[in-house]
Amino acid sequence: MLEIYNPATDRHLVTFEEDTAESIHAKFKRAKEALPAWSQTDLSKRIEIIEKFKSLVEQEKDNLARVLTNEVGKPITQSKNELNGLITRIDFFLAETEKTSKEETVSEEKAPILEKISKEPLGVIANISAWNYPYFVGSNVFIPALLTGNTVLYKPSEYASCTGTLISQLMHDAGVPEGVFNLIIGTGKVGEEILKLPLDGVFFTGSYATGKKINESVASHLTKVQLELGGKDPSYVCEDVEIKTAAASLADGAFYNNGQSCCSVERIYVHESIYDKFVDEFVEEVKKFVVGDPLSPKTYIGPLTRSAQIEVLENQVKEALEKGATLLLGGDRVKRSGHYFSPTVLSNVSHEMSLMKEESFGPLIGIQKVKDDEEAIQLMNDTEYGLTAGVYTKDEKRADNILSQINAGTVYWNCCDRVSPKLPWAGRGHSGIGCTLSHYGIETFLRLKAWHLKSL
Ligand code: NAD
Repeated sequence: MLEIYNPATDRHLVTFEEDTAESIHAKFKRAKEALPAWSQTDLSKRIEIIEKFKSLVEQEKDNLARVLTNEVGKPITQSKNELNGLITRIDFFLAETEKTSKEETVSEEKAPILEKISKEPLGVIANISAWNYPYFVGSNVFIPALLTGNTVLYKPSEYASCTGTLISQLMHDAGVPEGVFNLIIGTGKVGEEILKLPLDGVFFTGSYATGKKINESVASHLTKVQLELGGKDPSYVCEDVEIKTAAASLADGAFYNNGQSCCSVERIYVHESIYDKFVDEFVEEVKKFVVGDPLSPKTYIGPLTRSAQIEVLENQVKEALEKGATLLLGGDRVKRSGHYFSPTVLSNVSHEMSLMKEESFGPLIGIQKVKDDEEAIQLMNDTEYGLTAGVYTKDEKRADNILSQINAGTVYWNCCDRVSPKLPWAGRGHSGIGCTLSHYGIETFLRLKAWHLKSL
């Protein structure tokens, strides 16, 4: 049994029955049987069904947001933002799939052999998902997978099982056949069972530690695998910025969703000539964030979803202080029920401290002084991760020069913590392999077939 608790109150919400090896096999069989009909269904029909799903999400938005807030602790305004963002992503996939999945003729007009490329669905794919943005990370996979004719085994995170169940209900209400979209409920153990199946693709979003295990267990099956993993995303503030504006933007990028975003700003480097002023402004911005009941529209910081993360944050703070960091704000649990940690800012930090090297995934940030661009670039690249990185400066050329030297899949100039459906989302190093979003994130659900056609 899977027990779900509200992280803001510790109150029990619901009990789910977990899937078993037997039920998972039955769902896989169903998905396999549903594949021929679904993959041959006209794209216009699949588009119509996903449009219906979108309109059901729109109708149900307030309820879906409340459920998400109750199970993961995300402040209600941010839950609504996520649902609005989901609509935008669905619109992108609806508009783009036909063009991306179209057959291409590549030979010249009068060539003796016609050469063309067709695109077919992978088959039955597994979508094993994280809890921090269940609508985003889920839809990045299941929407293009379904539109391109795949059938799906969808395992939401155990921490987002209520949301996963609602997504599945809405899919079926919209007309996606039962066997085409299959919900699987459970913890990592259930995820391990899924990976034993002869799948045609594994699309995972979660931590580096789990992603590595998944990669290893899928390797022997020769199955396509995509991993969207963690980050330790840096931002560098140059001396020519409007300090208050940069501080406000980065405080939001570090603390939105309680710092539990794969692309949260996790470390900040600031030019030495504005360091003290920037740090003061940054702390003032963070002090404005309202910590409290996630159901209140005023709340900006709610509880952490997983109580275990509090210990990670405490250890990072303790170690940093032992090694000479200065605590400017927060640093410990908030004394109330639920899993709350105070928004925490540390200065005088260095790469000797785990808070500048390992994913914090919480409301915690270190701000380090640098003497020039060269040192900033070296420190930004001093990581195993490579998800996003940013720079704040008025000088576009300087930004371009810095960002082109950064080893990350996404780079930002004067912004941060941003995802666009039109752009590929692709981590490097411990941040993952493969990509979602953009037309590349649709193509990834298709296999290419090469045709050599000669008439006699
Ligand atoms: P997690 O790795 O603990 O779990 C992710 C999913 O994997 C869950 O559904 C879980 O049940 C399942 N799982 C766990 N062990 C498994 C196993 N051995 N085999 C198969 N499945 C298993 O991650 P999480 O705590 O849910 O998510 C937080 C992490 O996800 C952070 O590191 C964050 O940065 C990352 N993330 C990355 C992106 C991205 O796009 N790059 C987006 C969101 C979150």
